[in-house]
Amino acid sequence: EYFKRIEKYDNSIEAFLTLNKEEALKKAKEIDEKRKNGEQLGYLAGIPVAIKDNISTKGLKTTCASNIIKDYIPPFDATVIENLKNADAIIIGKTNLDEFAMGSSTETSAFQITKNPWDISRVPGGSSGGSAAAVASQMAPFSLGSETGGSVRQPASFCGLVGLKPTYGLVSRYGLIAFASSFDQIGPFTRNVEDAAIVMNVIAGYDKMDSTSVKREKENYLDGLKNDIKGLKIGVPKEYLEGLEGNVKSQMEQSIKTFENLGAEVEMMSLPHSGYGLETYYILAPSEASSNLARFDGIRYGNRSSNYNNTEELFVKTRSEGFGEEVKRRIMMGTYCLSSGYYDAYYKKAQEVRTLIKNDFDKAFEKYDILISPTTLSTAFKIGEKNDDPIAMYQSDKLTVGVNIAGVPAISIPCGLSDNMPIGLQIIGKNFDEAKILNVAYNFE
Ligand code: GLN
Repeated sequence: EYFKRIEKYDNSIEAFLTLNKEEALKKAKEIDEKRKNGEQLGYLAGIPVAIKDNISTKGLKTTCASNIIKDYIPPFDATVIENLKNADAIIIGKTNLDEFAMGSSTETSAFQITKNPWDISRVPGGSSGGSAAAVASQMAPFSLGSETGGSVRQPASFCGLVGLKPTYGLVSRYGLIAFASSFDQIGPFTRNVEDAAIVMNVIAGYDKMDSTSVKREKENYLDGLKNDIKGLKIGVPKEYLEGLEGNVKSQMEQSIKTFENLGAEVEMMSLPHSGYGLETYYILAPSEASSNLARFDGIRYGNRSSNYNNTEELFVKTRSEGFGEEVKRRIMMGTYCLSSGYYDAYYKKAQEVRTLIKNDFDKAFEKYDILISPTTLSTAFKIGEKNDDPIAMYQSDKLTVGVNIAGVPAISIPCGLSDNMPIGLQIIGKNFDEAKILNVAYNFE
């Protein structure tokens, strides 16, 4: 049924880069067989899933939507993929993204522009736009994306979905092609909160293959999901209410009322350093990216320029031909910020501000159980609208990057419409409080 929908709608949505039809149907048959024979089935038996194309899938192309690895077929599965397969989920295909997950609209993909299923003249958000569009158009019941600065929550908000960014270290990054390693985290897109809890039950947990994975007991995110939230203390950072467009502000006010009706206490508060979030993020993330992407040199991975006379030229031509404009911009910014002479002024300073931003959150959570805000300033913008203005594009991440800088978890859930386009509400929790934010989101939903 899902492949039928893909055939029907993906010509116009362009969410998928690669389909895994033959394998998927074979796996589905195997599961039917097992069921018939009364054999034990996995937790997600027979449920199709679409995967962002920067998550490694054994035997299935993983391109990061970049020409530099456009034919790369990983010889191993990412840990999240292994977990999904062990639960008998069925991988139906790989989805489009901004090249190497750098962007907020999925327009920097080297291959295609994914459309927002609510209005195909608009972007689905990014960088996990393909994963969001696939679920929003019901070409998959759930999908995985990745977050470095908002790439699950922002497209979830633009496409009317639930999107969760887990606590840094909760979900293994092994096999996620690195963008900025101190930020990167894999997260699910689902159509409701309960599904997000179910997916988290499969993908969260310690992994010895990821040195940043945190050792802690596995939780069942369905436990307590439906508890009431009477007496919950909610903070609303006032800095996150500046510059809202359309109905975003009025829907936020409406959401606050909903929480009050559910018995929560809502209070305005401040995250005083949030004004430095974008600048901090756009120094640290490109710096880490410039280092991570050094591995694409034409020797070990992916495509090699056919047109060189010596090793130096091999590197330069391979990278010049293989990377797109936004990726090159990030590599140049990052290299600049890390270079001797500028390191103290940019990279080191940004690391210091990172601590201040993290301290703001720590302090807030001494007083509040959760924080809420809109996920984005506006609803989905038009395709092409911010394409030739990188700064305008970066500014659209204003309300999401703080969470990634601090490492804390956050979810985006639908909270109304503005001009018939969905608006997202962001619920932020303290480290490893996924169960709490899912519980709060469930009550709101
Ligand atoms: N839009 C942000 C960026 O371009 C975040 C991307 C992401 O979370 N992968 O870096």
